Amino acid sequence: MGQHIIKVKLVDHVTHDVLRIKTEKPASYNFEPGQATRVSINKEGWEKKKRPFTFTNLPDEDHLEFTIKTYPPHEGVTNELLKLKPGDELIVGDVWGTINYKGEGVFIAGGAGVTPFISIFRYMNAKNKLGNSKLLFANKTAEDIIHKDEFKSMLGQNFINILSQEVSHGFEHGLINEDFLKKHGVNDYDYIYLCGPMSMMKSIEEQLHNLNVKADAIVKEEF
Ligand SMILES: Cc1cc2nc3c(=O)[nH]c(=O)nc-3n(C[C@H](O)[C@H](O)[C@H](O)COP(=O)(O)OP(=O)(O)OC[C@H]3O[C@@H](n4cnc5c(N)ncnc54)[C@H](O)[C@@H]3O)c2cc1C
Repeated sequence: MGQHIIKVKLVDHVTHDVLRIKTEKPASYNFEPGQATRVSINKEGWEKKKRPFTFTNLPDEDHLEFTIKTYPPHEGVTNELLKLKPGDELIVGDVWGTINYKGEGVFIAGGAGVTPFISIFRYMNAKNKLGNSKLLFANKTAEDIIHKDEFKSMLGQNFINILSQEVSHGFEHGLINEDFLKKHGVNDYDYIYLCGPMSMMKSIEEQLHNLNVKADAIVKEEF
């Protein structure tokens, strides 16, 4: 597909440090829920600094949407995206990604690792096919939870949050461990979807292994 220059239509915050960026969609540009592309900013000095981001909207919509956690201390692309305005341009490349929906499952996300699941849940919800899938979402504090109200309305009791740095009513507390995974039924589903930072992925994969979840039941992408 090559590279496409696209104009930004809207930029807003979905949490204190996460942006939603809506852009034009290039003609004949197709993606599956869960897939990503490399994005750079079409601005002098930034065109070649490409970073992977996931499409978070539905594939048949007339625009693209990205949901991006920003890291000002890195002084990298996500910090620069904080300066973005409607009319500015991004460059997107080919579509790829290892997370695709295979069937009902337990989706485990850490922070911005939820982005492939945003598109998948929205897609399955639009088709009325969410079934009994669950989202186990790990964040530091409640204010870090991306699209809390939307996930709650789509998933109800199947939306489970765990916070590592805040004790708060209605949220589990601590880091994901084997008891937590077992309690939330990882052994009852055919598929476990996993996406988050490397250290979290490594630890959860070990825990799933200890709980006898087969490696080929795990659909994963490291952020
Ligand atoms: C397939 C895939 C899809 C993804 N989709 C999304 C998505 O939809 N949304 C999302 O939010 N994220 C997503 N990510 C993660 C995202 O790509 C990174 O967060 C992003 O690349 C960070 O870019 P950056 O330029 O701001 O910082 P980086 O590229 O991480 O860092 C820039 C520079 O900052 C320095 N640096 C690195 N770490 C630190 C640190 N801890 N403190 C200080 N300086 C540091 C280094 O010198 C580095 O070169 C995805 C990742 C993958 C692999």
